[in-house]
Formats: sequence, structure tokens, C-alpha cells
Amino acid sequence: MSFIHALKCRECGKEYPKEALHVCEYCFGPLEVAYDYDAIKKVLTKELIESREPNMWRYKELLPLENDPTVGMQVGYTPLVKADNLAKAIGVKELYLKNDAVNFPTLSFKDRVVSVAMSRAREMGFKTMACASTGNLANSVAANAAACGMENFVFIPCDLEQTKITGTLVYGSKVVGIKGTYDEVNRLCSEIAGKYGWGFVNINLRPYYAEGSKSFGYEIAEQLGWKLPKHIVVPMAGGSLITKIWKAFKEFHDFGFVPDLDTKVYGAQASGCSPIVTAVKSGSELIKPVKPNTIAKSLAIGNPADGFYSARVMRDTGGWGEDASDPEIISAIKMLAETEGVFAETAGGVTLGATIKLIEAGRIPRDESIVISITGNGLKTQEALKGSLTDPPVINASLGDFDTLVKESGTEFVAKD
Ligand SMILES: *Cc1c(COP(=O)(O)O)cnc(C)c1O
Ligand SMILES: [Zn+2]
Repeated sequence: MSFIHALKCRECGKEYPKEALHVCEYCFGPLEVAYDYDAIKKVLTKELIESREPNMWRYKELLPLENDPTVGMQVGYTPLVKADNLAKAIGVKELYLKNDAVNFPTLSFKDRVVSVAMSRAREMGFKTMACASTGNLANSVAANAAACGMENFVFIPCDLEQTKITGTLVYGSKVVGIKGTYDEVNRLCSEIAGKYGWGFVNINLRPYYAEGSKSFGYEIAEQLGWKLPKHIVVPMAGGSLITKIWKAFKEFHDFGFVPDLDTKVYGAQASGCSPIVTAVKSGSELIKPVKPNTIAKSLAIGNPADGFYSARVMRDTGGWGEDASDPEIISAIKMLAETEGVFAETAGGVTLGATIKLIEAGRIPRDESIVISITGNGLKTQEALKGSLTDPPVINASLGDFDTLVKESGTEFVAKD
């Protein structure tokens, strides 16, 4: 049973068949999946959702497939962690981490979008998957394609973190490094998609791909006991995730699954690549592309496809945008790890770093519920911490050497007597 009836232009409303299309040929607006919400309302209830397996497909009626999913059956339903230690450290009352650093199978929220895009691609008969990626998408396309036996090509900027390259190659993916920024990789991939007819999850399959991010928002609402937080902070690269979390909240409110829709949505970027935040801060509708220069490579998109719409979400909900510098990113990564035992990648450092600044500026009040979106795992971006952690002492395997270490270290190692 299918609840998707067409693709529809966000700008002019023109409808298109539900194929691998992503831009309106009349006004160049982005295409979005159009659902038959009335039909979904007849079947989908909170009780039905709760009766299902703990993965993102418990909301399958609101995801853009014709049939049951075939890729990424275990993706999603990651922990929503009540972060009391971090709350205390940053001086707020009620704080949660939505932790996609432990999403299955490749430890980032990208597994959500990839499982939708690839399930849909298989329905449409694609044999070869591909993507333009800042790293996490590469890992996810490679892993999920391997698991369902599909050929895949992954295009990345050649200066990506080694862990993200290794974590793509290992699945047997055909990886191509491009001498250039992500924006240049993306432009090339648009040309390749047209010429080779492959399914690029974030280009010609983008309308389906983007819908997968809604599951991040649905889960937060359900895990909070069917209500929405007052504030949510979301990292932005292309700006898709933030718009889809807001869409998820609106849909759940429209379905009567949550009582109130008064969440303020905040976007976070790295100071070295903040075209969307800059537009929000300056009150401009125009997103001016930048050349990225930041350790947060997963967010290094200088010309964000959904920048305009994400700025609008922040403005319309009464939220705001904030950026974090490289040193702020590193200290936030350490703070999150030391207070909550969660090791996030650089994007997590951006999000917590920006959250702290928004709280200190009085943009986010200290006494209302806040969700911080953790979207990727710190084990993948370890080189960002190089030089900011002290190497461990090395001694011989001798008790005498250890006693000496204890004496020399002062208070760091305390003996029993
Ligand atoms: C891709 C990515 C994002 C941002 O996604 P967009 O939808 O492009 O804004 C955030 N965090 C991580 C870790 C990512 O890999
Ligand atoms: Zn249009």
C-alpha cells in the first residue's frame, strides 16, 4: 500500500510523477514528496507505532516508499539521553541528547536518509547507487549498498578524514577522490547523474532521501512521551535535516500525536563554513556561498541546497542560528565526552558549541526543555583532537615504576594507603 501520490514543486506547486526527479523544470524549485495524509490518518495511530519494532520504519506510512522497505531494516530508534551532567555544566534545567552517534550501521544520522533513498531506488529499478559526500554519507551508501548487493560509486573531496575514507573503502565501494571542495564534487556528480543514469541518493533521489531525516524528529517526539521539546539545536550542512525535523514535528501535531507545536528550532554551523547562520544573523533571505575552512568537514558545504528553507524554519519558529569556531568545537567535544560519556564527531562539537553560545546570549532560556542533535560518531574524526589531549604516560610493567609515577603525578593517581 502506497501513500505517496506524486512529487510536487515547493515553489509553484506543479506535480510530477514519483520518479527520480528533483528540480521543477518550470521554476527550478526543489521537488518534495506529496503524501495522501487523509489516507495515512485512517491507519496510523500512536498505538500502532508503539507496537512495532524499535527502528525508523515504525513510522513507515510517513516515509516515501510504495512497498515495505528493503534496505536498512535496523536503522534508527537511537537513544534520547537525559543529559543531567551536561545540563549542570552549562547551567540549564532540562537537556536531552538525541544520539545518532550510535545509529546502525555506520554511526551517523545518514543511515536514515540512505535507507529510504536506497529502498526507493530499488523500487524504481536502479542497479547502481552513488552519492556526493562529506564523509558520513559515503560510509552509509557504501555499507548499505554492500548489505543489499548493489554496485556503488562514492565521490568525496580528496582531503577527507582518513577514517571516513577507510570506512568507505572497506565495504568494497568504488571511491573517487576529487581535487576540490564538496560543492565542486556535487556539481560534478549532477553531471554524472545525468550522463550515467545512476541513483545518486542526494541528487536525483533527493526528495526521497530527505524524507528519511523526518524519522529523527518523530523519534524525539515519541521518546519524550509524545510531546515536543521547547528548543532543538540542529547541525547544518546542506540544511536538509533541520527542515525535515521541523516537518516531522508539524506532521505529528497535525496527526494529533503531540499536543503543542511551539518548538523553537536553532541551526548550528562551523564558523569556517556558516553561510546559513550568517544569513539568519544578518536578517537576509539570500544565502551567500562560502569556501569552507573548518575541522568540521562533515558540515563543510559552502553552497547549501536547502539553505533558504532552513533559514526560514529558524525565522518562522522563533529560533536562531549560531556558529562555533574550531577551538570551541574541540572543547565542546571534550565537554560532552567528559560529562555524558558520549563521543561525538566534529558536527556534535559544532552543535554543543553553538548551543552554549545561544544559552549564554539568552536566546535559549535556561529553564525550558532543550534537545541537542548529535548526528555522528567521534571515532570517525579523531584527528580533529590531535594535540588537544595529553598522551598517556608510558612505563615498564613494573610496580616500582608505577609507584614512581604515582609520586611524580601528585594528585592524579591516588594509592589506597
Ligand atoms: C550530513 C551531516 C549533517 C547535516 O546534514 P544536512 O541535512 O545536509 O544539513 C549533520 N551532521 C552530520 C554528522 C552529517 O554527516
Ligand atoms: Zn516549480
